[in-house]
Amino acid sequence: MLSDLKLIIMGNGSAVPTRNANPSSQMLIYRGRQFLIDCGEGTQMQMIKCGLKTRRLNDILISHLHGDHFFGLFGMLSTFHLFGRDKDLNLFAPSPLKLLLEKVFETSDTRLRFKINFFPMEDFKSTPIIETDTFTINGFKLNHSVPTQGFVFREKTLPPKIDKSFVKSRGLTVKQINDIKSGYDFIDDDGKLYSNKDITSKSRSPLSYAYCSDTSYSEEIIEHIKGVKLLYHEATFDDSMLGMAETKKHSTASQAAKIAKLANVEKLILGHFSARFKSFDLLLNEARLIFPNSQISIQGEAYDIV
Ligand SMILES: [Zn+2]
Repeated sequence: MLSDLKLIIMGNGSAVPTRNANPSSQMLIYRGRQFLIDCGEGTQMQMIKCGLKTRRLNDILISHLHGDHFFGLFGMLSTFHLFGRDKDLNLFAPSPLKLLLEKVFETSDTRLRFKINFFPMEDFKSTPIIETDTFTINGFKLNHSVPTQGFVFREKTLPPKIDKSFVKSRGLTVKQINDIKSGYDFIDDDGKLYSNKDITSKSRSPLSYAYCSDTSYSEEIIEHIKGVKLLYHEATFDDSMLGMAETKKHSTASQAAKIAKLANVEKLILGHFSARFKSFDLLLNEARLIFPNSQISIQGEAYDIV
């Protein structure tokens, strides 16, 4: 069965791109709605390779203003313009990006055909960045060399499911269905009462995902990402480079695994790898010693979150 929530990794490298690792970008897709998270250089090419339709994209979230997390934005927005996009685009990013975008497009004599709704985010409020009837996306503070935030997607609790044959055989109206989903019992035309628990079943558990882009080891993250089904955490370095990780405000694979363990997440995927690694086996082994359900993120791969 197809999952309602899917993550596609389009870039899992760090500052310098390599043959197999683009700078950071990923697409979270919930019931067809796309959320582009970070937009490193080359993201639009990665979207094409991953078969993603840019026309569907209306929401972009940028974790921080280091080039490897947003330099792809200018080219991508320019392409949207050339394709004649006229739909608004929501951009959630640190506030200096607004002026920067205006300058870039002014300098290149580009008047975008579409409106960018810019949502500045550096005050790390506890209110959601995006909220609908079915999910929330919140930002939370990471510990990096510039203001940086992670993102956490949480689906709301789903209403109980009603037995399909019951709906059909009784010809239930939308109102009756909604009443049952809200917990009411049902009385048919003959006055027979059906207890709510006899005609409903529990829905699957809510889906969730957290993105920790660039950060040093920080236990303050834990409360925000507790129990998520999938965690993407940066793992720029291995254990032998712990000093460098601390200086550069990044994490080692072991530190990412420790956060995953303390936050009691279901699964961890590692990313934002230093270009010096030819193989990621060492990072994976270090992480699995602490958190066995760890994986190396694979560029171009789609992860069903279930
Ligand atoms: Zn950074």
